[in-house]
Amino acid sequence: PSRADITYFGAGPAALPTDVLEAASKALLDFNGTGLGIAEHSHRSELATNIINEAKADLANYLEFSQDNYEVIFMQAGGTGEFAASVYNLVGAWVSRQHAALKKDLGDDEEAILAALRNKVETELKVDYIVTGGWSLKAYQEAQRLLGPEYVNLVADSRTINDGKFGKIPDESTWKLSKDAAYVYFCDNETVDGVEFPAFPSILTPDANGNGPIVVADMSSNILSRRIPVNNYSLIFFGAQKNLGCTGVTVAILKKSFLPPHTVQPSAPLLRKLGLPIPPIILQYEIIAKNNSLYNTLSIFDVYIAGQVLKKLLKTYPDKVDGQQAVAEKKASLIYGALDAHPDVYRVVPDKAARSKMNICFRVTKNGDTDETEKTFLKAATVLGLTGLKGHRSVGGIRASNYNSIPLEGAEKLAKFIDDFAKAS
Ligand code: PLP
Repeated sequence: PSRADITYFGAGPAALPTDVLEAASKALLDFNGTGLGIAEHSHRSELATNIINEAKADLANYLEFSQDNYEVIFMQAGGTGEFAASVYNLVGAWVSRQHAALKKDLGDDEEAILAALRNKVETELKVDYIVTGGWSLKAYQEAQRLLGPEYVNLVADSRTINDGKFGKIPDESTWKLSKDAAYVYFCDNETVDGVEFPAFPSILTPDANGNGPIVVADMSSNILSRRIPVNNYSLIFFGAQKNLGCTGVTVAILKKSFLPPHTVQPSAPLLRKLGLPIPPIILQYEIIAKNNSLYNTLSIFDVYIAGQVLKKLLKTYPDKVDGQQAVAEKKASLIYGALDAHPDVYRVVPDKAARSKMNICFRVTKNGDTDETEKTFLKAATVLGLTGLKGHRSVGGIRASNYNSIPLEGAEKLAKFIDDFAKAS
């Protein structure tokens, strides 16, 4: 088949806009008449710096946050690397805050400060995790592995209210938040389980003075698809390979109060004395931010692609992310609508209140048989050019990833197929 015949619903890497790829294929050979391809130019060149700065500004413009308050950092650690980076950097910031407070009380008595700090780490340090699917579970486990389980508080776990399975978001009234956690972590959209937070959790909303918990979110699979109250977050991270671009670059949007001169990360010797993990330098936001994401060799090609996707979004939607959100909602409602119209054949896996607009997970059953029916479903879909629909290996079933690059016509085609398949005997 040719590219034009395929609507690819894979969960990531995801399809990219064809015009972006066409321009990129030219840029790979010769970037803007320089005689050298975009992947060959030095990451230290002026053109590389311009690509980075433009992508940062376009991201801020599209999501409508202020670059005065938030730093955009490009990294290569993947979403998985950010599971660790969030632990290191925000625990580091917590230590730094405690250290400053103790210094005020205890002056220059470093030994007394260290003893008090050790005590605080032992008695007060907590990081909070809300586990609503496979990815937040991995992040939670990484925090346990790096810090030790005693420091990691499980705020809520969907499996406890859903027969051991993911698919629901526990009611906020049941969340067990720590007092003054170093941060509260959640995954806004669970790619494998098809669970998305319908809105920012109200229990985490800052007060009128802007004071509230330090919130971290993994938005790998729904960034750029809906409006987010960026100011409620201290850190948002996402891999590029779903809605932003191609695999190879990861983005962190970090509140500047977590960077120097406001926050200086603790030194390695201090962390060692406190028995806390020492971050690899490449996961230290402070270092990467200071170097405008060029502490080491960054894939400028990946940033360029992300930048082109953002420029296309800004051009397509005069009202920015709201415009894309309206399309995402329309596409999702077409697909869910087709599924809901045939409850005898389709079962959407997550609870209605937690349905993701990006990853639509469902099971297909006919004549009491699910496995064979799903195989037939996938085969028939492929014939029509609807591909990438197989669910994650850990949960099975069908998953339609309805990312930004899926056009409305693609969603319509899938919805029609869902309807036709149910009706066929
Ligand atoms: N978080 C979410 C929500 C994801 O969907 C993924 C990957 O699909 C990850 C994290 C892990 O990202 P990576 O494979 O880039 O480490």
